[in-house]
Amino acid sequence: MQNRIKHIRHAMIALAMVATASQASAQTTCPGNPKPLGVARTVAIDTTGGPGFGFEHFKDHDFLRKDEIVLTFDDGPWPHTTAAVLAALAAHCTKATFFPIGKHSTWHPEVLRSVAEQGHTIGSHTWSHVDLSKLPTDKAKAEIEMGISSVRRAIGDAAMPFFRFPALKHPPELVKYAGERNLGIFSTDVDSFDFKLRSPDKLVTGVMERLHKNGGKGILLMHDFQQVTAKAIPILLNELQAKGYKVVHMTAKARVNSLPEYDQMVAAQIKGPVSANARPTSSVVTTVEPTSAAATKPATK
Ligand SMILES: [Zn+2]
Repeated sequence: MQNRIKHIRHAMIALAMVATASQASAQTTCPGNPKPLGVARTVAIDTTGGPGFGFEHFKDHDFLRKDEIVLTFDDGPWPHTTAAVLAALAAHCTKATFFPIGKHSTWHPEVLRSVAEQGHTIGSHTWSHVDLSKLPTDKAKAEIEMGISSVRRAIGDAAMPFFRFPALKHPPELVKYAGERNLGIFSTDVDSFDFKLRSPDKLVTGVMERLHKNGGKGILLMHDFQQVTAKAIPILLNELQAKGYKVVHMTAKARVNSLPEYDQMVAAQIKGPVSANARPTSSVVTTVEPTSAAATKPATK
């Protein structure tokens, strides 16, 4: 009997230790930031059939719990502003979803590659950011597809099957098309209206107020293309952390394959002759002789 009690006691202590260890590992450690937002939860979204998200337009799927937010950034990649957003996210060891414009991705592919390298999710946001409700259907479909192709071209990997319509205009025939292409459609719960603002403080105050009004959770819409957002984002992330918000990172069950005819249409838009050589630069140009500071330093008398 004594032995049995001892066994049970040992088992209970072991269980308690496992629980403590798993709680500790669930906490984010973030170098240089004792109070990081981190990532509270990662979700995998099955976009089969084109589900819609963001209660401003789609009421089907409410996957966020109280205090949970999703950070989204549109209209990049753009020099300096996207880098500033990435730096602020990295300082909080947190993750976001980016909806880049196709043209911008072909102009600044290295910026989009840095977004991918830092582990953020990359969806798409059309080729040239036109209001799709004003285009004939075939042209609108080309806008969607070329946006997907240009992500593929910029990062060398397929985009996530997440799509945001420009200006959140959702023509029914294209919502149907997104369903056929198994693209998840992302509207928003909390619009930052950053494109209308100049003051980072106003952006932060506005987002925090609307987030609170939305029941303390939601998909946040911002633009890594906007100067004001680049300035506001470190303040906003600190504020979100201080108020106890938790970041949910969205990933997809599968990526979206770009279609060859639209890959070619994007290639045709790139200025200058396009080489058929797809080898990485590191295999084309290699350093054969290291140039050390000592070797180039003039001899001193
Ligand atoms: Zn946009």
